Amino acid sequence: MSRFLNEKISGLEPYVPGEQPKERKYIKLNTNESPFPPSENAIKLAREEAERLMLYPDPECRELCLAVAEEYGVSPENVIMTNGSDEVLNFAFMAYCDDNTPAIFPDITYGFYRVFADVNGIPCEEIPLKDDFTVDIEDYVSKRGTVFIANPNAPTGIALPLEKIEELIRANRDRIVVIDEAYVDFGGESVVSLVGKYDNLLVTQTFSKSRSMAGARLGFGIASREIIADLNRIKYSTNPYNINRMTAAAGIGAIKDKDYFVNNCEQIIKNRAYVTEELKNLGFELLDSKTNFVFAKHPKMSGSELYLELRNRGILVRHFNKERISDFLRITIGSEDEMRELILVLTEILEK
Ligand code: PMP
Repeated sequence: MSRFLNEKISGLEPYVPGEQPKERKYIKLNTNESPFPPSENAIKLAREEAERLMLYPDPECRELCLAVAEEYGVSPENVIMTNGSDEVLNFAFMAYCDDNTPAIFPDITYGFYRVFADVNGIPCEEIPLKDDFTVDIEDYVSKRGTVFIANPNAPTGIALPLEKIEELIRANRDRIVVIDEAYVDFGGESVVSLVGKYDNLLVTQTFSKSRSMAGARLGFGIASREIIADLNRIKYSTNPYNINRMTAAAGIGAIKDKDYFVNNCEQIIKNRAYVTEELKNLGFELLDSKTNFVFAKHPKMSGSELYLELRNRGILVRHFNKERISDFLRITIGSEDEMRELILVLTEILEK
């Protein structure tokens, strides 16, 4: 840190992304990336677009917004494309929270929410998950502030049904509810269909997981035209060219390749069922995951020990040194081979 850094930023605890080690080849099950390459169609369009990199991209992302709007049954005016869904989430913190409108979210959820609140100087309230790690909507119903719920939640993987989310949105129409659906395509229920009905709902999604494009950095928000206009005010005040040409082209290719998308999700769900079963056979306890990861603990070994044993044997998973979840590991669902290797290695560790 230099001596010039202002107080707000120097006091900040930045988000810590999962490790991306270079020194050794690991089986990487620590950042919820897809084990599969993106759609051929996405790659082809991105490659062609590379020839036009001397030109700025379309700040409105018209073609991509249209493709996303068509896919999700909304108008392009209901869509904002962003640099990962992290960006639209940050915009929402900037737009809908202030000293009188705190950010409200579960105590165990996507760690970036806290950082977004802090970097924007926004007060926040963290609501404890229930003992079984579920979100109880009742806890949020009478709260004043902007609510952020990841559904399914991370790192627990647990999903809430649409009726529960609707209850929350309906409970106070004068408050914005942001539903982060980064993992929804792996078995959750999306509330995009409610956007036409409620003007206090913002849904965010990403191309990083179910469309295998984490490296492209592409996410989006779907909401009323007024909310999208608010978020665009921030986008045009920070970085109008937030989506580069190759990413936009890849996004169009990916969204139009429905077969690839469906197959990708099915494969992950199948591998999740396999690894869930095998982990249970090894004595692990797992939460009910509707995502591309599982959250598991073993009664015989601590989370940090298991994490290190796996790391030493070339498998990276995510461990959070945080109260209530320090015994758990968050394990990304990889390819069939990776899942088989994981089970083999865990069997070896537990037999030691
Ligand atoms: N929401 C949740 C719950 C996440 O776990 C993540 C990152 N893995 C994101 C949003 C952001 O993802 P991205 O910026 O890649 O779209």
